[in-house]
Amino acid sequence: MIDGHVHLEKDPYTIDWLSEFIRVAIERSISELYILEHSHRFKEFAPAYNSVILDDTDIGRYQRNWFSKRLSVPLEKYKNFIRAVRQGSFPVKVKFGIEICYFPEYEDEIERIVSGFDWDFLTGAVHWIDGWGFDHPAIKEVWKEKNVNSVYEKYYRLMEKLIHSDLYNHLAHPDSIKCFNYYPDYDLKDTYLSIAELLKKHNMKTEFSLGLHINYSHKEFGLNKEFLSALKQQKVELITASDAHVPENAGKYIKEAYEFI
Ligand SMILES: [Zn+2]
Ligand SMILES: [Zn+2]
Repeated sequence: MIDGHVHLEKDPYTIDWLSEFIRVAIERSISELYILEHSHRFKEFAPAYNSVILDDTDIGRYQRNWFSKRLSVPLEKYKNFIRAVRQGSFPVKVKFGIEICYFPEYEDEIERIVSGFDWDFLTGAVHWIDGWGFDHPAIKEVWKEKNVNSVYEKYYRLMEKLIHSDLYNHLAHPDSIKCFNYYPDYDLKDTYLSIAELLKKHNMKTEFSLGLHINYSHKEFGLNKEFLSALKQQKVELITASDAHVPENAGKYIKEAYEFI
C-alpha cells in the first residue's frame, strides 16, 4: 500500500527523523512512502508568494506573518538530504517530491526552480484563491463574507489551469475546498467530470486524501463520492494519501482508504 503524501517539515532533515515516519508506516503495512515538502518552505519559491503577502489588509498581514515563519530552507538542503537517502536502503520504498502551490502567473518560474533535479514526482496543489489562503483555520471566518459559488468556480478553474500547465505528475487533495464545510448551491457533477477528463488527458494522477479527515476532523472520509466515481469512470489513477505532518499519522487510514475506493 502507498502513502503518497507525507511531510517531514524538519530543519535540518535527518535520516533519524525520516526513520520515525517509516517505523509507523511499516506498522500500518505501508510499502511505499512518498515524501514531499511544501514549496513555501523553500527560499527559491519566495517570489511566487508575492500575491499572498503584499496585500495590506488583515488577511494580508496574517498571511505575511504566517509565511515569514515558514520560508527558510534553501532547496539545496532538501536535495542533499534526498541524495543521502537514496544512498541508503530502507524497509519501505521512499520517493521524493515537492508539493508546489500553483500560481498561474509563476508557471515559468516554478519550472525553472524544479528543473535539473531527478524528482520522483511533483505534486501540484491549489491552496490560494486570489491571494487568499482558504484552508487556513486562523482566518476561516473570511469564508462568511465570500460568495461560496464563486469561490468553488475559481478553485476549479485554477485546478484546470494547474493540470493544463503539465508541470506536475500528481494533483493534491482535489476537493480540499470543502475544508470548512462550505458548499455551493450548484451541482458539481460536471466539474468533477471535466477535472477527471482533464487529468486523464494530461496523464496525471490524483490523490484520495485523508488530509482533511485527519488534520481538520472533516466528517467525510477522503474524497467526495461523486468525484471518486467520476475519476474511476475516466480511469484516473488514484494515490492514497494521509497528508501526514507528524510520524504518528504516516500511513493513517490508508488500509481503510483502499477498501473504500
Ligand atoms: Zn496541500
Ligand atoms: Zn500536504
